[in-house]
Amino acid sequence: MQKTKPCPKCNVNGELVSNVTVKSLTSIESIEVNQDYYLCLNPTCDVAYFSGEENMIMQTDVKVPIWYKEDADPKYICYCSKVEKAEIVDAIVNKECDTVGKVVKNTNAMKNSDCVHKSPTGKCCSRQINDLINDYNN
Ligand SMILES: [Zn+2]
Repeated sequence: MQKTKPCPKCNVNGELVSNVTVKSLTSIESIEVNQDYYLCLNPTCDVAYFSGEENMIMQTDVKVPIWYKEDADPKYICYCSKVEKAEIVDAIVNKECDTVGKVVKNTNAMKNSDCVHKSPTGKCCSRQINDLINDYNN
């Protein structure tokens, strides 16, 4: 199984996502269970998930805004606990949270986590929190 695949619309590599996640987050009934889906990682592309030329799911058909897409509002980092990017940044910048653990404690991110059904990547948001810590500590 390929881990990445170029988006049929923008040609930027997308990341393999569990179809359990895709099914849970889209309003489209016809998702085929045995198909591999990829998440388009391009902020300016309006494709959310794709599995091939004819099988694209647009951001408008996904129940939550994908945080790194240009028009995402609100920008959630932790989808399970609905913690927005601004809250995470505030904890890092104003509350001296310099580790993922401190950010989690301060913002309640990752509480009740159910990433496979709630996060667009299907994975834990700790990677995004870590990236933000690095961005704001340099
Ligand atoms: Zn794309």
